[in-house]
Amino acid sequence: MSQLEDILTFNKNFVEKKAYEPFVASGHPAKKMTVVTCMDCRLIELLPQALNIKNGDAIMVKCAGGMIEDPYSSTMKSILVSLYELGSEAVYVIGHTDCGMHGLEAKNMIEDIKKRGVNDQSFAVVRAQGVNPEEWLNGFQSVDEQVRSSIAVVKNHPLLPAGTPVFGLVIDPKTGELRSIK
Ligand SMILES: [Zn+2]
Repeated sequence: MSQLEDILTFNKNFVEKKAYEPFVASGHPAKKMTVVTCMDCRLIELLPQALNIKNGDAIMVKCAGGMIEDPYSSTMKSILVSLYELGSEAVYVIGHTDCGMHGLEAKNMIEDIKKRGVNDQSFAVVRAQGVNPEEWLNGFQSVDEQVRSSIAVVKNHPLLPAGTPVFGLVIDPKTGELRSIK
């Protein structure tokens, strides 16, 4: 059976036995908070539990490294939607130690992409969009600096509601321990 078939079979049973009931919530975050964090698979359950966040408590925005680089990215758009349309009132940017984006160098990833058969012509298509893959695909060198830099993008956004608190944290993906970033 394929993974998709497995998922669909499980899902049918999940719905039939009403396993969703403990998760029922409104689409407006009860704790009026937005969390921006990394897509790392170790954080799926650990991060909410370590922060005492339950289904319906917070808006979660996830991307590689929890990096907010472009003020007009889908990540920043999600933050603004959460603040204006969903009732969120505070933003928490949470990086983590041992992140896959830590030390990720674009040139190495470009090599990996080429090994998988993507040719120079495809990279030319990317460049034609005004995107430099050597910059775009870079990770970061310091998680603290990454969090500070992401916070700055949010705080300096011209459309951020005045007075919105923006906090920075780093989480340990093993113990869930949080550290504040000043
Ligand atoms: Zn990560």
